[in-house]
Amino acid sequence: MISFKKVTKTYDRNARPALKDISLEVERGEFVFLVGASGSGKSTFIRLVLKEERPTAGSVLVAGQDVDAIPNWKVPQLRRNVGTVFQDFRLLPNKTVFENVAFALQVIGKSRGAIKETVPEVLKTVGLEGKGKRMPHELSGGEQQRVAIARAFVNKPGILLADEPTGNLDPTTSLGIMKLLDRINRAGTTIVMATHDDEIVDEMRKRVVELVDGEIVRDEASGVYGSVR
Ligand code: ADP
Ligand code: ADP
Repeated sequence: MISFKKVTKTYDRNARPALKDISLEVERGEFVFLVGASGSGKSTFIRLVLKEERPTAGSVLVAGQDVDAIPNWKVPQLRRNVGTVFQDFRLLPNKTVFENVAFALQVIGKSRGAIKETVPEVLKTVGLEGKGKRMPHELSGGEQQRVAIARAFVNKPGILLADEPTGNLDPTTSLGIMKLLDRINRAGTTIVMATHDDEIVDEMRKRVVELVDGEIVRDEASGVYGSVR
């Protein structure tokens, strides 16, 4: 589903690479934790999948397609198949919960009728039934992240990329968010989640890929956060 082939990304010509000769295969339906200290290259990985950045060397394939070969006019199509969730939620502050989720359907031309039917279903899936009329600031952090997940998920993307989705949440709320992501993954969506939340990683026991200074130092099935060295 996601394939990195000898990918190097250097932002500034004289700086050390943010990612250095990375090769990685993420299969359809997998759940992968991307772990590593701040600055180890996790966000760069995510930006390359979204074609927000281009590799300096090597290639990135998403669903079999080299993202570098995707023309600019087709990038929105790529991003529709790759949902994203971030630490800071990134909701539209002046729109209701319903409208935040509906927006993702409006931009792909869904009818009013389809939107009215789909949004409440998705809100129910993420545990926000009946909260469609609230404004984002009226919700807790965990609820706001659920809205962001609903928005990322409403188009049923093949891939969901989550960059520190629990970074602003307390441990109990974080676990609820993880259970939701796990459920979405079990329904078939491939998930890559960048995190340095060691408790979550240890609890979930998923594949763990560890980056240190832009290099993969560990890739384990059912791994834990801390490497045993
Ligand atoms: P992480 O997400 O693990 O914190 P990043 O991918 O954000 O890591 O950063 C990896 C390295 O690339 C860091 O050294 C960071 O300073 C550098 N970097 C990230 N984004 C940029 C950018 N837009 N311009 C220049 N350097 C960047
Ligand atoms: P309720 O208050 O009935 O429990 P919600 O809290 O889910 O329902 O509120 C969503 C309702 O608001 C939907 O039934 C929908 O008809 C309406 N609504 C809000 N925003 C929009 C919008 N942008 N487009 C269409 N309908 C909307």
